[in-house]
Amino acid sequence: MSVVLDLTRIVQAAADADSPSAQVSVIVDSIQRYLGLDVCSLYLADERGDMALLASHGLNPDAVGGVRIPAGKGLVGLVAQSRHPINIANAAQHPAFYRIRETREDLYRSFFGVPIVRSGIVIGVLVAQSKEEREFSAEESAVLVTLGSQLALVVATESIWQEINQNIAPILPGIKGAPGIGIGQVSLCDDVDLYSVTDGQCDDREATLAQWHRLVETVLADVERERSGLSELLSQEVAAVFDAYRLLLSDPSLVNGVAQLIQDGHHLPGALKKVIHQHADVFLAMDDPYLRARHEDIRHLGNKLYGAWRGLRTDSGEEQPPNTRTILVGSQVSVSDIARVPTEYLAGIVCFQGSNLSHTAVLANALGVPAVMGVGEIRGLHNLDEVVVDGNAARVIVRPTAPVLAEYEQLLKAEQQLKGELQGLRDLPAQTVDGTNICLYANSGLLADISPGLQAGAEGLGLYRTEIPFMVSETFPSEDEQLAVYRQILEAYGGKPVHMRVLDIGGDKPLPYFPIREENPALGWRGIRFCLDNSSLFMSQVRAMLRASEGRENLRIMLPMVSNTSEIIQFHALLNDALQQLAEEGIQVRRPPVGIMVEVPSAISQLASWRDYLDFISIGSNDLSQYLLALDRNNPRVASSYDHVHPAVLLEIARVVEIARNTQLPCSVCGEMSSDPIAVVLLLGMGVRTLSMSAAQLPKIKWLLRRLSIDNAGSIVSEALMLNDARQIRKLVADRLYVLGAGEILW
Ligand code: PEP
Ligand code: MG
Repeated sequence: MSVVLDLTRIVQAAADADSPSAQVSVIVDSIQRYLGLDVCSLYLADERGDMALLASHGLNPDAVGGVRIPAGKGLVGLVAQSRHPINIANAAQHPAFYRIRETREDLYRSFFGVPIVRSGIVIGVLVAQSKEEREFSAEESAVLVTLGSQLALVVATESIWQEINQNIAPILPGIKGAPGIGIGQVSLCDDVDLYSVTDGQCDDREATLAQWHRLVETVLADVERERSGLSELLSQEVAAVFDAYRLLLSDPSLVNGVAQLIQDGHHLPGALKKVIHQHADVFLAMDDPYLRARHEDIRHLGNKLYGAWRGLRTDSGEEQPPNTRTILVGSQVSVSDIARVPTEYLAGIVCFQGSNLSHTAVLANALGVPAVMGVGEIRGLHNLDEVVVDGNAARVIVRPTAPVLAEYEQLLKAEQQLKGELQGLRDLPAQTVDGTNICLYANSGLLADISPGLQAGAEGLGLYRTEIPFMVSETFPSEDEQLAVYRQILEAYGGKPVHMRVLDIGGDKPLPYFPIREENPALGWRGIRFCLDNSSLFMSQVRAMLRASEGRENLRIMLPMVSNTSEIIQFHALLNDALQQLAEEGIQVRRPPVGIMVEVPSAISQLASWRDYLDFISIGSNDLSQYLLALDRNNPRVASSYDHVHPAVLLEIARVVEIARNTQLPCSVCGEMSSDPIAVVLLLGMGVRTLSMSAAQLPKIKWLLRRLSIDNAGSIVSEALMLNDARQIRKLVADRLYVLGAGEILW
């Protein structure tokens, strides 16, 4: 009698719960209390039959709401399929056992599952577990089976799913990580957060030290395996992440730092957290956004070690790689997470945090996988949920409705078709429909970027940023070290022109080993100003460039941040000295053409008067826009107002192009404008005939140029220059591109 009464009370309490989520919690809590269970959990079937863990007393609370067991999988799937209770003394030994890391149910041995069946359909599974290895008693089984059948009548499944779906905004804006559209099922990355660890005492220092050294070995082996799995697809820059992990894992300051803290009595995760914190903070304090983003790599490595310590990743063989279109989602999706999904199934990446400069974004770009960063935490998202990643518009659509999904499937198809067309363009000229040839150059800064430019059919290097080899080095590279790099680049490009820009450090590009502290670095000691003030360093760079050009004719030297006549005159004097020094040393090199970046507004009005000193100019639209608009595009507070198609920027560029035309000064554009299709139409209309951009963008821009005529571009720019708002200008150009049948380029 009392059992019946108790069961009625449990069911009644569930029926009376305030909300659907409270109802499922009441159910598991009351059953756990009544039977004195270690674990009581409730799984409910979604529309696909996957079982979502919606409430649990005993399993990891972080897993509740997040874990989904695919239909038919595991013991829960077996209960649902067989429609019978299952009573097992040692669950892990059962052939159907399906290990889910997040729930941490390894602690529990026995398993009792009851199907919850309504109108002949299994709507869920009620599960009891205990630590001991034992079968559940006949009395316990009877209670659970009775509850299972009564719950079928009261569990408000519809409202529960509605509540879950309402808690999640369907469209989430973020930051562009990599372009493209990806549709697939969510795979949540380990939510391991070393930074949330609290410090604790170490009980056995010797054993913990041995455990630490084993952990480093295990993770090193993991890194090796992941790297070799991806190697053919990796750009050298991304391979460098794995090298960085490897170096850090062999770095005495990390390995011994943690060991020392363990010896001082800290437990392993606490010691690891402290050391990783210190390493990451060094990068976090850097001004340069690229170097600052490197702190994410160190945090990833910390989480990787911590995850392995928790037993989440030690046996890499246990997890099956996904075999459907997969979207990786996590607070920070690491390079290792990416390595775990076969590239053909990796449809997209969504990061709650992270910037477009993180290695996750770099790798996504290298692999051509759409990515959206910084969307903020997505609560209520589960494994296997359907998601659209729109890397073009920087947004994520969670559980899209059928019409939205159909629309995106169409876009994806069109995008894939366009990609196919782009691949076929490599050997075709960048020629407008009226037969005007446009010269497309590549931008580069690393030796690793050289072959992509050539492979994409670049006619030369329009901007070689020499500061990047300086930034990745540990001290100023010697003249001979620079010579080796410059020679490889000039050689790789054969007879094609290479525009080497002299050192442009300072501002947003500090050197770690030469810190410059200034109140206002954007207006400070940078570019040509820094070079001329450090004449021996500058001389070694110019000598290295000239020596690299011995026997070749393709070197051109470009000066950054020029704002005063004297800077160009001083450079010519230094170049004369360098040529003379080399002649005295028996090295005969030809005097290379010399040009400047037009990126400081004051250069524009002086340009005509500098004609005799210059062989070419290149418009640096990034800095030119930032200085004209007084807007730092790396500052998130104001970045949304930054746009290089701002009417003021366009009018100044039109002025530069006009001066160049009148003085017959060859002019190119090498800032981001060259890879923005809207800006390219406007530049073409203004008369720009040479564009320099990252190799990855080159086929896309060639495709666009081959669909435009100079007349089309000219009339679009005339209309655009009458508007006084960047957004209106973008809309106008986009509308015209659709009419001309080139709108796909904007997807
Ligand atoms: C520019 O300012 O547009 C440019 C190309 O130079 P950087 O981005 O290297 O400053
Ligand atoms: Mg610049």
